[in-house]
Amino acid sequence: MSQEHTSDTNPNRIVPLEEIISHATRYHPRDDMEIISRAYSYAQQAHAGQVRMSGEPYFSHPTNVALILADIMMDPATIAAGLLHDTVEDVEGVTGETIEKLFTPEISQMVDGVTKLSHVDFFSKHQQKTESIRKMFMAMAKEIRVVLIKLADRLHNMRTLDTQKPQRRQDIAQETLDIYAPLAHRLGVYAIKSELEDLCLKYLDPAEYLLIKQKADENAQAQQTLISDIKTDLKASLDAEGLSGYEISGRIKHAYSIYRKMKAQKKTYEQILDLVAVRVVVKQLSDCYSVLGIVHSIWKPMPDRIKDYIHSPKYGIYQSLHTTVIDKSGQIFEVQIRTFEMHENAEYGIAAHWRYKEGRAADELDDKLSWLRRIIDWSSETGDADEFSTFLRTDLFQDDVYVFTPAGDIFSLPKGATPIDFAYRIHTAVGNRCVGARVDRKMVPLSTKLESGNLVEIITSAASKGPSLDWLNIVVTGEAKAKIRSFLKNASKDENLARGRDMIERELKRMGLNYVDLFKTEFLETLYRRYSLSGLDDLYVTVGFGGLSAPQIINRLNDEYRKSVKQEAKPIDTLPEKAPVKSRTHTTQGVEVEGDAGMLVRFARCCNPLPGDKIVGYVTNGRGVSIHRADCVNMLDGTVEPGRMVKVNWSDEGKSSYEAEIQVRGYDKVGLLGDLSNLFANLEVPLLAVSARSLKNGTTQINLTLEIKDTGQLDKVIRQLQKRSDIIEVFRTGM
Ligand code: MN
Repeated sequence: MSQEHTSDTNPNRIVPLEEIISHATRYHPRDDMEIISRAYSYAQQAHAGQVRMSGEPYFSHPTNVALILADIMMDPATIAAGLLHDTVEDVEGVTGETIEKLFTPEISQMVDGVTKLSHVDFFSKHQQKTESIRKMFMAMAKEIRVVLIKLADRLHNMRTLDTQKPQRRQDIAQETLDIYAPLAHRLGVYAIKSELEDLCLKYLDPAEYLLIKQKADENAQAQQTLISDIKTDLKASLDAEGLSGYEISGRIKHAYSIYRKMKAQKKTYEQILDLVAVRVVVKQLSDCYSVLGIVHSIWKPMPDRIKDYIHSPKYGIYQSLHTTVIDKSGQIFEVQIRTFEMHENAEYGIAAHWRYKEGRAADELDDKLSWLRRIIDWSSETGDADEFSTFLRTDLFQDDVYVFTPAGDIFSLPKGATPIDFAYRIHTAVGNRCVGARVDRKMVPLSTKLESGNLVEIITSAASKGPSLDWLNIVVTGEAKAKIRSFLKNASKDENLARGRDMIERELKRMGLNYVDLFKTEFLETLYRRYSLSGLDDLYVTVGFGGLSAPQIINRLNDEYRKSVKQEAKPIDTLPEKAPVKSRTHTTQGVEVEGDAGMLVRFARCCNPLPGDKIVGYVTNGRGVSIHRADCVNMLDGTVEPGRMVKVNWSDEGKSSYEAEIQVRGYDKVGLLGDLSNLFANLEVPLLAVSARSLKNGTTQINLTLEIKDTGQLDKVIRQLQKRSDIIEVFRTGM
């Protein structure tokens, strides 16, 4: 962490009381510092005569811990607890009661928490280790300041790690990198996190650490010049725009973040381009965005490197605008923009909270720590140590979710997991009989994405018929997928056959396609060959147990169907149908209808026929004629009475525009809808209605109603849409 407040950087010195108080006063000017003075004297006496491994007086350690706490803005009580944190553990005759009597219950509790945590050894045997980590979470749950003291304690121990034996150094550094640095990160205490990481690197990969340090020293001059040039340019522009009260600072990336980048991107030091970062801290929120605009007017922003953590704070704490820009000479650097308040939160994370403790809403901290709050709700007695350890590895340190059973067991699942994944994780039988789920005591759809800390209850029923095939599209774990498939495959052939047929029928309806068109022998043959199926029953069975998906089958058949329609397209569209209309016809709304004049004509909404389509008329009960496409599903099903069909033809007179509906599936992209409406405007095709919905797989389905003259114009529109790379498929609906 930054040593800017500290004149003497020797980590083994005893920090004088006055120095601690002056640092504490900076952030808590109105607080009484008397408690710090008393704790200082008490700890000094208690540790009298004790020495550290280095031979230095033991008392140097608590005074340094207290100074670190003062510098991350902690309140006087925490600083006092920092001074006392090793007394109960290391001093004969000092107990929690002693501290409570001499100081306050609050301070005694914090000291007690830290003492308990000091027994935590993350490198003990597996079972004990997870138990230890759990203890830490429990301590955190009770009092988050305990963890901040522990972080300060660890930071000072890392600063003085040289005095430990080599193996012990490695262990402590590894533990720090695995547990404490991520914890500091997650709590938003960046100042501690980055110093911890650099110290860990020094002990875990000394060669790389030295190399980075050496390169950094070599480049320091050039980088400082770059920073000061950036600052000068930026200041000139900000002043010209009338901004005031801002602060610009520049820094060179800390060693570990360079190291991580080198490893992750397999680059050498020289290949890391953005070694320098500049930060602008402004008075108010609106200035942030003005500054961002100004920055982009001076330097060119790198695409996809603009991040707005103001609107979506990281971990609910960190707020800032980030942009990476490139200057004329090709130098790349990051600019961070934030307000002074955001800056304190960014540097000190939740620690900054104690600075404003009085003035703020009580539950603001709760909001910021909701992820922690969820762990607190978890009952400690019944947790499974293995799962808990999995949870730590997956959630705290990566981005998986962990959830709880009503009994307090914890399960970690990959991001995006649903109650079904959870059910199968508990037990295959629970998954197979799952009929519903409650999350945090509320009924939810089975497709709900679980979040860390959710309490998940699976509702099972002995009467359940077993997993539905749809589940295969919902679950994300391989385990659940395999178990669902295996269940379905083992179900009886008849069941699978019935289910498969049902799936296909439902999918056809959903896609607005027609069975008779698609399930022709010649199309099916292609499919049988492709998937080695023995026939239609086999196809249904395979779909029934999830070996093939219904959309997969239907899309294949539809492709075949379209190919064949295209081949036939010419003869159908041209003549034979148009010729033999009887003498008595009338023309209305652009359609020639056989029969009495005066019959109302309306265009069926199910298929929206267009000039160019083969059409039929159907006399409705109200004596009107509704015009359908000849291949409309509704004209092909069994309920149509042939006697009510009438011949109709397109005529050149009358109505000149018709409604057509198309469905577009595209990649979820902000602005796709806007782009589409521009495209239709350019094609001079009026857009009558539009609706869009996001699909589970990250794509968007958009249904559009267009005003169209004929099939030729519609084909043109569809071709235009098909050209776009962000559109996966386009088709006319009702076909
Ligand atoms: Mn300590």
